[in-house]
Amino acid sequence: MDAGLSEILVVGAGPVGAVCALALAQQDVAVRVLEAQPADARGDARTLALAHGARLILDRLGVWDRLTDVTPIAHIHISQRGALGVVRLSADELGVPALGYVLPYAQLAEALKDALREAGVAVEYAVAVDRIGAGADAATLATRDGRTLAAPLVVVADGGRGEGTPPPWFEADYKQTAVVCDVLSEQPHANRAYERFTPTGPVALLPRGERYALVWTAPHADAERIAALPDADFLAALYEHFGGRRGRFLEAGVRRTFPLRLTYTGSTAAGRVVRIGNAAQTLHPVAGQGFNLGLRDAWELAALCADGAPGARGDAAMLAAYVRGRRVDVLGGVGVTDFLARVFANDLAVLRHARGLGLMALEALPPLKTFVARRMMFGARG
Ligand SMILES: Cc1cc2nc3c(=O)[nH]c(=O)nc-3n(C[C@H](O)[C@H](O)[C@H](O)COP(=O)(O)OP(=O)(O)OC[C@H]3O[C@@H](n4cnc5c(N)ncnc54)[C@H](O)[C@@H]3O)c2cc1C
Repeated sequence: MDAGLSEILVVGAGPVGAVCALALAQQDVAVRVLEAQPADARGDARTLALAHGARLILDRLGVWDRLTDVTPIAHIHISQRGALGVVRLSADELGVPALGYVLPYAQLAEALKDALREAGVAVEYAVAVDRIGAGADAATLATRDGRTLAAPLVVVADGGRGEGTPPPWFEADYKQTAVVCDVLSEQPHANRAYERFTPTGPVALLPRGERYALVWTAPHADAERIAALPDADFLAALYEHFGGRRGRFLEAGVRRTFPLRLTYTGSTAAGRVVRIGNAAQTLHPVAGQGFNLGLRDAWELAALCADGAPGARGDAAMLAAYVRGRRVDVLGGVGVTDFLARVFANDLAVLRHARGLGLMALEALPPLKTFVARRMMFGARG
């Protein structure tokens, strides 16, 4: 064993692992991060919509000011294709500076990497973790380069990609793929985001810079076909699918695809091993909840580690408190995204009308709308 037993080990320096390590370091808790990718790897092409609550956390970590390519969302327009019912949310109405913020995943990853370096957090890049072993007094992990490390707590933030990922407690295959790219529309976006439900899957347009970041979900084969269309055909297909609210679409960037499924490990935490972020729950991107939820996992876990006595870090009582504290928020995020992905992705007339009534009720009842919007921004505690 070659790690001091006081040091918490974090597996994965993706956004959730990095936030957890930074929050621990800020509270003087010793931490080391192991990341499979080399230090100069760039994050992938996805765009993230961060809720206002996520901004507050990144602010406190000193990361927010490092982000330069951020577009605030002032309004959100939610509708369903071919049926009645529209919900309009506005930041002014809710008394917040913005409903959310749109930024590239790669930019957030870079800013977090810089912040970790400046905070003096030990990050070992190009070190993949192979096996993680639970234990009563210490957890152990084996790296692919042949070392074994022990720690009072191992935080798994590997995005659910590690080899030792336990079988999910609950999973769903939406049989959908997200097509992601940026698009330029004829009319400027005026910081308005759109979430439009269609029988084949939701389509989101998020204001980003002068353009929109598009997340178009469709059944696997359709999505691959759509992504491969030449630009002019792709833009015409998007216009046909989304409708003419923003005028015609004029330009599209390179298309990337992400297959979508829900995996939920059941928030298990025992034997000094805890899973957070996508390693604990991978959600459908509808309503942009995944990273926001993972960020709150990281923040709450770091707070519990820092608040307790150093000897209690990672013990059974601390982990039980973590699981208890996160249950409602996590189940809420899993439930809402799963509900939206399933209930809106079909064309049954009875459901179409019920959805329309639901959207109209939300629009007509400001207190209910505020209740829902606050939970989207801040999690289950609103
Ligand atoms: C198309 C799309 C759009 C999305 N939009 C939004 C949105 O608008 N808002 C939102 O909140 N969320 C969104 N999400 C979800 C969001 O991207 C994820 O929730 C978030 O990236 C999870 O972060 P993470 O750090 O847990 O995992 P990851 O980002 O997957 O990072 C995991 C890290 O662990 C490392 N790793 C993996 N295996 C090992 C190993 N064995 N050893 C060491 N390191 C390892 C990886 O290299 C990586 O750096 C979207 C997802 C998709 C697919």
